[in-house]
Amino acid sequence: MSTPVLLEAKALRKYFDMGKDKFVHAVDDISLTVHEQEIVGLVGESGSGKSTFGKTILGLHDKTAGDVYYEGERLPDVYKAEDFKKYARKMQMIFQDPYSSLNPRMTIGEVVGEGLKLHSQDSAKQIHERTASWLERVGLQADHMSRYPHEFSGGQRQRIGIARALIMEPDFVVCDEPISALDVSVQAQVVNLLDELKSSMGLTLLFIAHDLSMVRYVSDRMAVMYLGSMVEIGPADEVFFNPRHPYTDVLVGSNPEPDPESERKRPSTAIQGEIPSPINVPAGCRFANRCPKVMEQCHTVTPQMIPLAQEPDRQVACHLYSA
Ligand code: ADP
Ligand code: MG
Repeated sequence: MSTPVLLEAKALRKYFDMGKDKFVHAVDDISLTVHEQEIVGLVGESGSGKSTFGKTILGLHDKTAGDVYYEGERLPDVYKAEDFKKYARKMQMIFQDPYSSLNPRMTIGEVVGEGLKLHSQDSAKQIHERTASWLERVGLQADHMSRYPHEFSGGQRQRIGIARALIMEPDFVVCDEPISALDVSVQAQVVNLLDELKSSMGLTLLFIAHDLSMVRYVSDRMAVMYLGSMVEIGPADEVFFNPRHPYTDVLVGSNPEPDPESERKRPSTAIQGEIPSPINVPAGCRFANRCPKVMEQCHTVTPQMIPLAQEPDRQVACHLYSA
């Protein structure tokens, strides 16, 4: 991407303290640069740390280690109330589950207007007007404001979640599986809405999903996570059609949604073995015990993300490749 860097995570780490000296290594040493108006897709099996990464860069989890920069400014390790106030207008999250993330006792008007009420100087009348206009902008009606979340379908609730985030007019949005809880017929409508809002608002997105063909469709670049670490990143089509990391290869091959245009090869081997515990992460490559191409050093030496010599815009963390 030729646009300037908007967000940069450097060696970001988020461990959850489980007591008795046990830590869940949910995000372990992840670096990512996102350029203005870019869409970066983030994929990986459930539990690989995608949501934790998204929340940690937004300050919704305290960082364990590492740095996050936004427009070149280092973000706090632990957010205080004034930090949320400052960054709520710049960075927002659309949550994974439109059922559990909406407070059932708040009206839709309160849900959508809450950010402005907490983090802006706008009057009640202004907030009311903006809420009405945002409900219409996401394809709902202004007079839905006095209703409650349970009165809406899954797709409508996801639209409410989108209005709630975008009413703040952020530049950067983490979309955490914004469509995975929805019926297939509704998914495309929500993706189209996000696409249209992305273009009209000039948004930059981190798009988390486990449907790889959807991520390929919406994203400029695709990043692949496995057990808290990043294993591959590159142009979305390249990663999807020509995966380099053995994990990406099996992940693409096991994608439940076959892509009709796809000419990609099926992986030679299906994924095998148990995913290790994120509390006792193995030494060396975390994928080694399931990897069809495992070599001796994979069990001891942790592979680093390196740009490939032939494809400098692709980085892979695997001993099969050298820079
Ligand atoms: P994904 O979004 O890729 O499914 P998550 O980020 O939700 O993955 O989870 C990554 C790992 O962190 C998982 O092992 C999960 O159980 C653990 N985890 C997530 N949130 C918490 C939490 N608040 N406390 C403890 N462990 C957590
Ligand atoms: Mg998640």
